[in-house]
Amino acid sequence: MNKLIEKAKLTHNLDKDEILELLQNDNINEELFKAADEVRQEFLGDYVHLRGLIEFTNICKRNCMYCGLRRDNKNLERYRLTKEEILDFANKAVSYGYKTLVLQGGEDDYFTKERMTEIVKEIKNLGVALTLSLGEKTYEEYKAFKEAGADRYLIRIETTDKKLYEDMDPNMSFEERLDCLNNLRDLGYEVGSGILVGLPNQTLESIAKDILFFKLINADMIGIGPFIPNEDTPLKASKGGDLTLALKVMALTRLILPDINIPATTAMESLTPNGRIIALQSGANVVMPNVTEGEYRKLYALYPGKICTGDTPAHCRGCITGKVTGIGRIISDGYGFRGNQNTNAHDESLI
Ligand code: SAH
Ligand code: SF4
Repeated sequence: MNKLIEKAKLTHNLDKDEILELLQNDNINEELFKAADEVRQEFLGDYVHLRGLIEFTNICKRNCMYCGLRRDNKNLERYRLTKEEILDFANKAVSYGYKTLVLQGGEDDYFTKERMTEIVKEIKNLGVALTLSLGEKTYEEYKAFKEAGADRYLIRIETTDKKLYEDMDPNMSFEERLDCLNNLRDLGYEVGSGILVGLPNQTLESIAKDILFFKLINADMIGIGPFIPNEDTPLKASKGGDLTLALKVMALTRLILPDINIPATTAMESLTPNGRIIALQSGANVVMPNVTEGEYRKLYALYPGKICTGDTPAHCRGCITGKVTGIGRIISDGYGFRGNQNTNAHDESLI
C-alpha cells in the first residue's frame, strides 16, 4: 500500500505536503478510495443516514460568482415557500421515514429571526433532528434558532484561500465566514462545512489546506461539491470541477476525520450518473434526498444538470433506498448524530 495512505489510515494525520502529494498522484486513486471506504466501515459501519432536504427559498441577497441563486441573476423565477408549505413538506418527509430534515435556502431576509424560529419549533414538534443551511446570520439569530431546537448547521467555507474566497463571494468577508463557524460551534450546534472543488484559480495546495482546516475546526460534517459552472453566472465559461478530484478530497477528509458525517453530494451525481453511489463507496455515509415538491425543485437552480428535478419525494426515497441496499448498505433509522452512528432512533436521548 502507498505509505502515505497507510499512515493516514493508521494515524488519521497527514501534513499539508503529504496531502498535496496524494492529491497530485493519480495512480493511487483507487487505493485511496478503498482506504476511505474501509475507514468508514470501521468507524461507522454500513449505515447510511438519509437527510430530507427542503429547498425553501431561492431568493438570495448575496452575489456569489458561482451560484445560480445570486441576486444579479435575472433569468431565474424566484420563489419562497410559505410556512404552511414548509410544514406540509416536512410532514410528508416524516411519513416517508426521514429522521433528519434539512432546511436550505438563499439568504432571504423575509425569513426573520421570528419567522424562522416559529418554523424551527414546529418542525421540531415532528420529532426529527433539524439541520439549517441559511448562510450567514448574526450570533443572536443562530442562538435563537438553537434555542428553538435546531440541531445542526451547514455553512461551507467554500475555500480557505482568503483571496479566492473574496473574489468568488463579492462583498463577503472571509473572517465573517470564520466567525459564523465559531459562533455555531460555541452555541452547541453540530457544525457542517465543506468546499467547492474546481473553482477558477484554485490550486491543489489550497485544497490541501482546506482539508487541514476541516481537521482544525473538528467539523462534524463535511460536504464536498464539484463546482459546476452555471450559464447565468459570471463563471459560465469556467472549466468546473471533476468528480475524481472531488472524490479524492472527500476520501482524504474521511481518512483524517474518521467518524464524521460525509454526504455523497447531489452535485457529484449531477456530474456523473451514480456519482453518489461511487461516493458512498469512497468514504461517504450520508445522502440528502430532495423532499421539496413540484416546480420548486427546478427553480432551486444552484447549477445546471441537477438530478431528480422531475421526481417526487416518494420516488426519490424509493430510488435511493434501492441504490443504497443494492451496494450492501443499510438505511439507518437513527438520527445520525456524530458519535452516535449505530444506535437505533429509539435509543437516542438527544431528541
Ligand atoms: N445560501 C446558503 C445555502 C445555499 S447554497 C449558503 O451559501 O451557505 C449551498 C451550497 O451550494 C453552497 O455552499 C455552494 O457550495 C453550493 N453551490 C453553489 N453554486 C454551485 C455550483 N455552481 N456548483 C456546485 N455547487 C454550488
Ligand atoms: Fe446565495 Fe448561497 Fe448562492 Fe451564495 S451560494 S448566492 S449565499 S444561495
